[in-house]
Amino acid sequence: MVNLKVWEKLRNQFTAKKVTLIAVSKTKPASDIQELYNAGQRDFGENYVQELTEKYAALPKDINWHFIGHLQSNKAKYIAPFVHLIHGIDNARLLQEIDKQAAKNNRVIDVLLQYYIAREETKYGMSMAEITEVVKHKADLPNIRICGLMGMASNTDDMAQVRGEFRSLDSFFVLLKMEYFVDHPEFSKCSMGMSGDYEIAIEQGSNMVRIGSLLFGGRTYAK
Ligand SMILES: *Cc1c(COP(=O)(O)O)cnc(C)c1O
Repeated sequence: MVNLKVWEKLRNQFTAKKVTLIAVSKTKPASDIQELYNAGQRDFGENYVQELTEKYAALPKDINWHFIGHLQSNKAKYIAPFVHLIHGIDNARLLQEIDKQAAKNNRVIDVLLQYYIAREETKYGMSMAEITEVVKHKADLPNIRICGLMGMASNTDDMAQVRGEFRSLDSFFVLLKMEYFVDHPEFSKCSMGMSGDYEIAIEQGSNMVRIGSLLFGGRTYAK
């Protein structure tokens, strides 16, 4: 069930702050997406390749599809023709594969590098050194545009820790921008914050927030 009241409230709040609201629709039916689409939402986030390609086929073509899950290299080809932004780049090899698939589709694909900020083994992401390596060699990937960073905070009630993790992502973002992207206005996106921590994320500089359960209700097979 879609909560339109919450959507409207978040949208107004985010528009005022120039924050992009991504409605995370993983595991939810296409009818829920259509309902939010009819209300005016255009950015949707999905975690699973097959689910995303099915929804892409079934829904309006002007939706901006964000891939926010862990992407396996061998599946990049399925979303390369249409994906709007891939958030979770967590290794250099994946980036090479996306570049190749983007070239095949005659397009440039926008991506965010996932920075590992949580103190949790279960989360994906790259270290500062790994990200810096990728960024230094970005000219080798002509069909990729690096547009910023993405990160997930630890799943904890300790909000001071969450705040610190988001702050470290924002600081790194600012540093990369100064070192490597001064003449690249596209390097502008800081994707952090979900239903439980988006307020802290925005306070720490996020301009792209990924919200699922607040909009669509809880998920039965959450990931
Ligand atoms: C599922 C998911 C979200 C949304 O989570 P909610 O807590 O339901 O808002 C955001 N980001 C990523 C990467 C996710 O996998």
